[in-house]
Amino acid sequence: MSTPLPIAIIGAGPIGLAAASHLALRGLDFEVLEAGPSVAHNIRDWGHVKLFSVWSQCVDDAARALLARAGWDGVPEDQLPTGHDLVRDYLDPLAATSEISGHVETNARVVRVVRQGRDRLSSAQRDSSPFEITIEAPLGLRRTILARAVIDTSGTWQNPNPLGADGWAAPGEQELASRIRYGIPDINGDDRAEYAGRSTAVIGGGHSAVNALLDLAVLAEGEPGTAVTWIARASSIARVFGGGENDKLPARGALGRRLKTLTDADRLDIVTSFSAGALRATPEGIVVSGRRSGESASAGPFDRLIVATGQRPDFSFARELQLDLHPVVESTRQLGPLIDPNLHSCGTVPPHGWRELAHAEPGYFVAGVKSYGRAPTFLLLTGYEQVRSIVANLAGDQAAADDVRLVLPETGVCSTTLEEVAPAAACCARAQPHADDPCCERPLAETSAVCCTVRPRGPAGALPNAASSCCG
Ligand SMILES: Cc1cc2nc3c(=O)[nH]c(=O)nc-3n(C[C@H](O)[C@H](O)[C@H](O)COP(=O)(O)OP(=O)(O)OC[C@H]3O[C@@H](n4cnc5c(N)ncnc54)[C@H](O)[C@@H]3O)c2cc1C
Repeated sequence: MSTPLPIAIIGAGPIGLAAASHLALRGLDFEVLEAGPSVAHNIRDWGHVKLFSVWSQCVDDAARALLARAGWDGVPEDQLPTGHDLVRDYLDPLAATSEISGHVETNARVVRVVRQGRDRLSSAQRDSSPFEITIEAPLGLRRTILARAVIDTSGTWQNPNPLGADGWAAPGEQELASRIRYGIPDINGDDRAEYAGRSTAVIGGGHSAVNALLDLAVLAEGEPGTAVTWIARASSIARVFGGGENDKLPARGALGRRLKTLTDADRLDIVTSFSAGALRATPEGIVVSGRRSGESASAGPFDRLIVATGQRPDFSFARELQLDLHPVVESTRQLGPLIDPNLHSCGTVPPHGWRELAHAEPGYFVAGVKSYGRAPTFLLLTGYEQVRSIVANLAGDQAAADDVRLVLPETGVCSTTLEEVAPAAACCARAQPHADDPCCERPLAETSAVCCTVRPRGPAGALPNAASSCCG
């Protein structure tokens, strides 16, 4: 009898390694393919950032079981790790366990995944062909492996959104690349010299932008001449402040509160309602031009720009697979309405597992932050439950695969317009039900500390509707 093919995991971030842990515990063969020279390559890039989740919310249950077998010292469960802590104290030891270490290949970038011998158009009997995965080593050497299923946990970090409000690189953006950083530079560490005594504009309205603004403000305290401008597309910055005290992740709420303190003290220049259109180099610095409240406008000049406008998934290596993507957020079609930031901004999502994550392509799953496409609200706990369900499905344990449970902390912010949201409009705190917003259905008196609780058991595959999905 021939040996079954392994299950391929693309990317050794926290969710890929959690998938590996679940597969190992179930005795299924797997290969983790990691593009970087070591596991958790993306997190190492933002290792200086402190997470807003405490340790107990960062460790997967199956991973914990493997680590316990290996004599792991554990982590301080109620403390906040940095990205570097997460790698050093959790992900590196996990990758080194005997159950996983022999199954991880680093410097192995996946550049193509196909059904062997079939392009996207060949619909008949696709599931009788294995997946053929092309891996590229750093010097360009390519080889292929076969797999019976694929869990794509390759993240989005390496694919930042460009500056242009239309989703494309703004004219001038490529030419000025040496003065632009994406994501969260280490402003008070390795990258200090780049920002000290200079003027910097941070463009974006999410947690990465907030982190960069707070770091710049700290830098400005000790470095005269350091100036900070915040450019946001939203007409109000209230939402970025978050739910504050209402955020069930206190560290996340504290980020917003610290930012509000800075703005109240006029330590930031703030430009709202601004859609960036183009960049121009002048002798004084970079000028950002665009539209503000419908009129032509410009901001600057600035010495440096930090573009913190989020990331997007890259499906290029899977283009010959039959994917079923949501037209707005680029998650699966089923998951999209639950996380589309145009519809709600709770940062919470009804429990979902392998069914909601399945594409038309049998045996191909996208999990982790990439499963959320362009939606910005992914949490590790979500990804751990995703891969638990996917692995149970691949193991043929349908009862476990369908028994999807997820408890997520509320953000304390829940809006349908993403405009003016004061803490008083916190998630689940409205008196009136709101049809568009699954997290804001019940009056405060009925709410629990978590927005989304155990998924109601309904017909297999049916997602709970908005009214039943939160505040359960
Ligand atoms: C600054 C920051 C702070 C965050 N804080 C929190 C928090 O406090 N709490 C929380 O719950 N979540 C937080 N998140 C969100 C989320 O949990 C993280 O983004 C997490 O790293 C997602 O894990 P992942 O495994 O899906 O993807 P990643 O960690 O991005 O891992 C993807 C891996 O795939 C590899 N890869 C990419 N392309 C390929 C390829 N083609 N072939 C092979 N390998 C590839 C990468 O090198 C990487 O190792 C935070 C995110 C950021 C950016």
